[in-house]
Amino acid sequence: MKPIYPGLFQSSSLVANQFILVDGAQSLVVDVGLPGYGRQLLGNMRKVGIDPRELTAILITHADGDHFGALAEIRSVNSAPVYASPQEAEAIQKGVSSRALKPKGFQKLFYGVIAPLYRPSPGIVDHLLEAGQILPFWGGLEVLDTRGHTPQHVSFFAREHGVLFSGDSIQIVGNKLLPSSGGNTWDEELARRSFEMQLALQPTVICGGHGIWIR
Ligand SMILES: [Zn+2]
Repeated sequence: MKPIYPGLFQSSSLVANQFILVDGAQSLVVDVGLPGYGRQLLGNMRKVGIDPRELTAILITHADGDHFGALAEIRSVNSAPVYASPQEAEAIQKGVSSRALKPKGFQKLFYGVIAPLYRPSPGIVDHLLEAGQILPFWGGLEVLDTRGHTPQHVSFFAREHGVLFSGDSIQIVGNKLLPSSGGNTWDEELARRSFEMQLALQPTVICGGHGIWIR
């Protein structure tokens, strides 16, 4: 696997990205992907030289099935602490999404078809995140309040590296960056503010849930 940035790798589960970060003896994953795809993520950890049993931490941006769905599968081989914001953690522990979807027209049909794919089992969250907190990984990973897509979505910013893990708070379409919007967005106005706040940080690499952007 080729790194996106030194020590940083992309794994994917059909529709969504997970990121594997290796920094000396520390290793972490940001989001774990769809239920049923845990084995694939564990395999990719091994490919980049990590023993999944020794994983340092699991960070979750928000409670959508394509981001936390494989949590129980990953935790079945280790006891890496799981980090999420309080509201998202509550949903993760119930195995549900943190907000209802508001699909219209064709989207309704589409969500109906893909919903079973996204149905995760409940997961355990060990640490509740607070905005502004700096996690002791990769030179300091800052927790950003990026609510909008979901009620308490968070992003992780490695200032030293200029790398932003934005979950679904930034849509990456080709080379274009857009805020979360439409039927899967809890609050579009907040989503737009979170989007602008993150762009103002001038990241050089954006690791998104459904795309990667490099300046
Ligand atoms: Zn999402």
